[in-house]
Amino acid sequence: MAEEKKTTIKKIRSAGPMRQLMADYFKELDEASKTGSPQIAWCTSVGPAELLRSFGFLVYFPENHGAMLGSSRMAPDLIPAANAIGYSPDICSYLTSDIGSYLRKNTPLTKAFGMETVPLPDVLVYNTNQCRDVKDWFSFYERELEVPCIGIDTMRQIGDITPEHISGLIGQHKALIPILEEISGQKFDIDRLRETVKSSYECTKGWKKVLRIAEKRPSPITFFDATIHMGPAVVLRGDDRAVQYYETLNAELEERVANGVGAVDDETYRFYWEGMPVWGKLREHAEFFAEKKSCVVASTYCNSWIFEDLEHEDPFEGMARAYTELFIVRSEGYKEKYLENMVRDYNISGIIYHDAKTCPNNSNNRYGLPLRFSKSSGVPHVVINGDLNDLRLYSEEQAKTQFEALVEQISEKAK
Ligand code: SF4
Repeated sequence: MAEEKKTTIKKIRSAGPMRQLMADYFKELDEASKTGSPQIAWCTSVGPAELLRSFGFLVYFPENHGAMLGSSRMAPDLIPAANAIGYSPDICSYLTSDIGSYLRKNTPLTKAFGMETVPLPDVLVYNTNQCRDVKDWFSFYERELEVPCIGIDTMRQIGDITPEHISGLIGQHKALIPILEEISGQKFDIDRLRETVKSSYECTKGWKKVLRIAEKRPSPITFFDATIHMGPAVVLRGDDRAVQYYETLNAELEERVANGVGAVDDETYRFYWEGMPVWGKLREHAEFFAEKKSCVVASTYCNSWIFEDLEHEDPFEGMARAYTELFIVRSEGYKEKYLENMVRDYNISGIIYHDAKTCPNNSNNRYGLPLRFSKSSGVPHVVINGDLNDLRLYSEEQAKTQFEALVEQISEKAK
């Protein structure tokens, strides 16, 4: 009997420097947590990180920890600990797995970076642009660790963004300054903020280039690679090391393009991933699509860390716009238009919508969008049920059957 050939995922060389960069980032946080200096701010993933860095805080992102709990598959064992103290199994599984990790004193940072615990905060800073859960999540630690929790309350479901939206948000950013001055003991320095925002914008440009190179055929990178390589854009924006990292990664991807090397051999079909990744199944999903000669070339999720409005001459307006003109904050009409552009730019054959049970905010299938969009664009889709972290809500068999049906539908259409 012929031995079944196993598809291997092509390694990206820059993964080595990226791991080192992430290790350095966590080592600095660990030392600061132990010694009390520099101070540490916890920030939501699309919170005002630049403002915090301008005060000299090291910035830690609990959502990044949430993703690590998902990809290490520790989440399903830890979520029940949060459920036991009243946090519903139906709310954000980043939140429940992170609180579970805190309660059980068990973190993937120990195995990955030798850290006993997550770095302890001096201040917790949220922006509710993505969901209310982040505020509830930080409020838990505010009570538990007796640390101040401050933030920005952003409106949601926005169509056109008006000057009134922006001026309100600028005001909220500025209102954080006296509190941060008091906590840090440092005077606000507009030049330092400008430098940090500039660095963050350079990071965005590098990250955008990484994602946009996937428009090439074959694409040198998949969505599954991008979910890993987005680490520096998430946790180190505003720090020049992230800018340098994307120069390295882009050089490697350009080399692949020049040599006609695709991330997937014999790339035939090109997919768009809408919604959160299933963190504990990245490898399985990458292998599945590679076996089908299919490349998931683009996603809403990875594109959410492109903040082009940071280029603004006023750093406050830049931050207010960048953190509001996000897909997740916008109306259904805006989202449809966005998808239309992505389908055109990346030459997409089909769309996979991930209905993540515990994140309605990143599940865009629930108000009729997939059917409307398939009808207007002619691009077929599938909706898979699952979750970002809680693998008990995901059926591998069911998802694979659905992926297969979509590939089949597209290949029939192509005949
Ligand atoms: S957007 Fe979704 S995954 Fe992210 S913190 Fe909010 S509920 Fe959790």
